[in-house]
Amino acid sequence: MENCAIVGINWGDEGKGRMVDLLAEDYDVVVRYQGGGNAGHTVKNEKGTFALHLLPSGIFREGVVNVLGNGVALDPESLSAEIRDVAAKGVRITPQNFKISERASLLLPWHRDLDELEERRLAEKQYGSTRQGIAPFYSDKYQKKTVLAGELFYPDELRAHLADLAEWKNLILTRVYGAKPYTPQLLDAWLEVCCEAIRPFVCDTGEALRQAQREGKRILFEAQLGALRDLDFGIYPYTTSSNTLSAYAPIGAGLPSAKVDRVVGVVKAYSTCVGAGPFVSELFGEQGSRLREAGAEYGAKTGRPRRVGAIDLVATRRGIELQNATELALTKLDVLGYLEKIPVCTHYLLDGKQTDRFPFPAALGAAEPVLEELDGWGCDISAARRWEELPRQARDYVQFIEDAVGCPITYISVGPERGSVIVRKGGA
Ligand code: GDP
Repeated sequence: MENCAIVGINWGDEGKGRMVDLLAEDYDVVVRYQGGGNAGHTVKNEKGTFALHLLPSGIFREGVVNVLGNGVALDPESLSAEIRDVAAKGVRITPQNFKISERASLLLPWHRDLDELEERRLAEKQYGSTRQGIAPFYSDKYQKKTVLAGELFYPDELRAHLADLAEWKNLILTRVYGAKPYTPQLLDAWLEVCCEAIRPFVCDTGEALRQAQREGKRILFEAQLGALRDLDFGIYPYTTSSNTLSAYAPIGAGLPSAKVDRVVGVVKAYSTCVGAGPFVSELFGEQGSRLREAGAEYGAKTGRPRRVGAIDLVATRRGIELQNATELALTKLDVLGYLEKIPVCTHYLLDGKQTDRFPFPAALGAAEPVLEELDGWGCDISAARRWEELPRQARDYVQFIEDAVGCPITYISVGPERGSVIVRKGGA
């Protein structure tokens, strides 16, 4: 059966959540396969407006089983709060429609502290972390110094395991950063309040996924962030600490034998980037702030203003290649309605030469954007539901992007609501 991954092509915040919410209708299982509660997937549907941090975006669909795979950074504190908030808005979240892999590692309370402490130490050289503990979590996971969600079913062993980890971590907290150590009481409170709330959802999701596969069910893999934030292939060190690529989906989801037949790459009609690091097509001053306001570009988790820029076709081509995207969803096209001319970054200028290749991270800072201006449409397109209903200039803009990146744009979104989408099967 056809499996699908919905992934980000750029720096994240492309609108993956809304695409998962839309396409989940055609799938039986939705699995988040990497990342933590540091980003926000905003979804607007008949149940309300939600900023999901860890819950898979298929949670609103009846009959869909939602899974957090072993590849995620499972933060019991933020997940338990999120379950409470989303359920309070009338969304059904039960062990039947939401399952957490027993193999997912837990983000421990000190990971957030260490993220904060290290960013503070770095001062003006900080990475721009959301300070949710993601980088310390993943480094500890690979050092084998965190615990698995399944350990929640072995309380005695878990307490002993946590005590060992705390002994080591307290050395770092107190002697490197001069911060307070963790006491057994603090850890007990965390276990009782946060971990107890998520325990009913923890199970052997690998078996559930293999069963779904045997029964020919359709699986949708949901990514966090975008290709350029991938730990191995992105703009290191301004990446995230996990693999955002579709190729990693079967591993992080907990179904290594899965084949990803369809990859929907999500691209925003302009660029945004959160945090520090090179951002070649960035727009500044009045031009930047108008775009930021028009697109309401403020972080869902932190409220931080996002950096904004022209759509970057060099980065987008690279993202499509990395994600192995078979089709694209172009989001937020409506936001550009106020512009008479729309800047598009078609190439980079590097060492005096024009290039369409995405450079090595260390060379990126010296790259300058080569911009072309396309005609704007100067009107509100949020009511359009068919390709023909878009003004000619909007169609030309989409067509220009599709031709330049060589991948069919099959969805165009013109508003945040679930139905504000133009489906354009087969692209041009
Ligand atoms: P994700 O992390 O990739 O899911 O993206 P985010 O949720 O961080 O950012 C996308 C933002 O754009 C959210 O606030 C969405 O509600 C909003 N959004 C998504 N698609 C559209 C669209 O077509 N038009 C407008 N105006 N807003 C959109």
